[in-house]
Amino acid sequence: MARVLKIQTGTECYKDMYDDSLDQKISDIIQCVDAPNNSLFKIIENVRNIYPAIDPELVQIIIQGELDKHVAAPRCTCCGAKAHKKYSNKKECFTTIGTITITCPYYACPKCKAVLTPYEDALNLRDGKYQYDIQKIAALFGAKETFEETAEMMSEIYRVDISPDTVHKLTNQIASEVSLTEIIPTPKEVSKIVEDISRDNYRKPVLVFSADGAMVPIRTEEKGQPHCWREAKGIRGYLLDKDKIVHLLSWHQVSNIEEFKGFLANLRAQDIIPLDKVRLCFVGDGADWIWDCVKKYFPECRQVLDYYHCSEHLYDFAKIHFTGQEKAKAWVEETKVRLFHNNAVHVIAGLNRMKCKTAETEVKRNNLFNYLKKNIDRVEYGRLRRGGYPLGSGAIESSNKFISNIRLKRSGAWWKVDYANNILKLRCAKYNSKFDSFFEEYESKAQAKRASREKRIRVVK
Ligand SMILES: [Zn+2]
Repeated sequence: MARVLKIQTGTECYKDMYDDSLDQKISDIIQCVDAPNNSLFKIIENVRNIYPAIDPELVQIIIQGELDKHVAAPRCTCCGAKAHKKYSNKKECFTTIGTITITCPYYACPKCKAVLTPYEDALNLRDGKYQYDIQKIAALFGAKETFEETAEMMSEIYRVDISPDTVHKLTNQIASEVSLTEIIPTPKEVSKIVEDISRDNYRKPVLVFSADGAMVPIRTEEKGQPHCWREAKGIRGYLLDKDKIVHLLSWHQVSNIEEFKGFLANLRAQDIIPLDKVRLCFVGDGADWIWDCVKKYFPECRQVLDYYHCSEHLYDFAKIHFTGQEKAKAWVEETKVRLFHNNAVHVIAGLNRMKCKTAETEVKRNNLFNYLKKNIDRVEYGRLRRGGYPLGSGAIESSNKFISNIRLKRSGAWWKVDYANNILKLRCAKYNSKFDSFFEEYESKAQAKRASREKRIRVVK
């Protein structure tokens, strides 16, 4: 629009300059609102995508105006009668763009007394002040930092007044409603990653699974009993792309072996791994429970005994069998070379022939003998390396560190098992790139639940 140029003084000229950009903003926000189709959560996501910082009052005015324009007087969802407007309520909503207050009309059915709240339904408002976008941030931050620090960060960044206790509640509420399969990539997502890696490779890529446990400080519920440590079992799946690791999925839970088995069974049943397109391999440290599970659910996979754990076992024996460090070192190196040349059979036979000077040495020797014998098919390191398989389980150890230890092992923190598992779920979701999708799902589910919730007249003002 051409403007007549005139000499202006004071604030007038700035107002004019701002006018055009405001026109654009308003029409953009109307589109983001798209009343009555979008929930408040979606509206705010849309708005923040275009305007990371915006005046909440402007958004509030537009949401109110668009709802008034597009939401007609409702008919009763129970009996179909035309509902009568009873009163309006100002609903204060804390969001990540600031506080928004919406005047929400309430209707009642004259026949069956059902209460209808069309604005709150359209916006899918959460009960209470804190809206879903705030809940999402609380869960995202709360999974990374202590609840105290999260509350502080939220107040710094979003100017929202929230207590650590509320952060805790909001975080647990989401996590407890999310199933473990929702935080694992879908078969389609996994296939896409596998395809991308396979494009320039003549061999099928190696998909590695690795499992291990990490101890978590657990609160004992019974009075007078000391707190304890329980194992969070973890599994990580990743693809090897030349020298790079491409993360696929992590699953960590304070659980027993049966629950861990359940996860593998689920992974198998849902065909998440495209077994015809990858060479599957499992690296473990020798714990029997891991191999039992692997054999049961992924019998086709290549099993690898973690090279460093194996070396440790060799050293443990050599240290007490040989006099002098040099001799011990030489024997370990020689044995490792033999393993690399796939001569595990000879190593085991050699151990068997060894003369032990003391009973203690003999026990150690027998342990090593049994350990290698049990893992004989898992220590062909030369062959494994030529095949492009990994020899170590460092990836799960780092996963234990950054998924479990970093958040759960804080000074003075003792966790209820459910709460610890909730945090682990959220952290896995984050690292599996599933946080956004599961939150969207959670918010839609809440909207469906709201629609089915029956409302009866309470006290009408
Ligand atoms: Zn009715």
